[in-house]
Amino acid sequence: MRKPTRRREVGRGERVLPGVWRLRLPLPWPGVPHCNAWAIAAGDGVVLVDTGMHEPGSMAHLERALDQVGLRLEHVRRIVCTHAHADHCGQAPALRARSGAEVWMHPAHGHLHANDETPEETVARRVEVARQSGVPEAPLRRWAEQRRAVGKGISGELVVDRDLVPGVTVSSDLGDWQVIETPGHAPSHVCLHQPERRLLISGDHLLGRVSLYFDEGHTPDPVGEFLASLDRVGELDARLALAGHGRPFTDVGGHVAANRALVAERLDGVRGALTDGPSTAYELAGRVYGEAFSEQTATWLLSKTRAWLIRLEQGGEARRRPAEPGGADTWSA
Ligand SMILES: [Zn+2]
Ligand SMILES: [Zn+2]
Repeated sequence: MRKPTRRREVGRGERVLPGVWRLRLPLPWPGVPHCNAWAIAAGDGVVLVDTGMHEPGSMAHLERALDQVGLRLEHVRRIVCTHAHADHCGQAPALRARSGAEVWMHPAHGHLHANDETPEETVARRVEVARQSGVPEAPLRRWAEQRRAVGKGISGELVVDRDLVPGVTVSSDLGDWQVIETPGHAPSHVCLHQPERRLLISGDHLLGRVSLYFDEGHTPDPVGEFLASLDRVGELDARLALAGHGRPFTDVGGHVAANRALVAERLDGVRGALTDGPSTAYELAGRVYGEAFSEQTATWLLSKTRAWLIRLEQGGEARRRPAEPGGADTWSA
């Protein structure tokens, strides 16, 4: 029997509306095979919203996707990033150098540590957080090795030419796009809203397949911030969302409600897990996520578990006992 071969992902481009193209770019991450960049017609060129991650061959994927819809890198007039995660802004430095276009991004992008940490320092910082969450030594070492091999996914020094904050508009042939601050998934997250056409570029704040993630450790309560961002986006009455991963989707209001419901369900799960007595975040993640919590998914799910715990701590429903030096924090109801 032949072993199933993994289909090699390549960059692909398609038109979704007159003047809006989806550029689907491959990612090296298990479970997240690609991300979207969006090209929007603007005069004699395009605004590029998000860039894909930087890794060997990544610029060729972007060029291939652009070529499929009759565009070239030279058409990029402005680079706008929904948030500072490598899959959304990793190619911004190289693209800025190639096209001469300005990079616009929310000023709270420090959580990416794009310029102030070496890849080695980033791994060391995250190992320390994992240790404090109670991750055992052996998987921690294996994870750190893998991370060192992958690198940061950013194509050079991140230079931001303009702060992407409310009041700033991104002009295009489809009209002006308003900046909506939507922290939670990441402190620097914004959505772009085109009110006349009721379009929303939703980044990772709202995805077609409901999937939560919180880049925690930078702000007091990422889950609370995410819920407030859902309220803000829910009020916009958008009819079509162009998301950071997956296909465009309608029923934006339904997706907002589904995200809220999943947050409530997970918080309930953590409340239940806390009744078993003082536990580390690692132990609680195992109880909350069951079989889904594996070595592959541990960093992702552990980060979410810490965010849930912080949310409950803010509401007076969980108490943290800080770690002894070299040990892990424990949590109780
Ligand atoms: Zn993200
Ligand atoms: Zn993403």
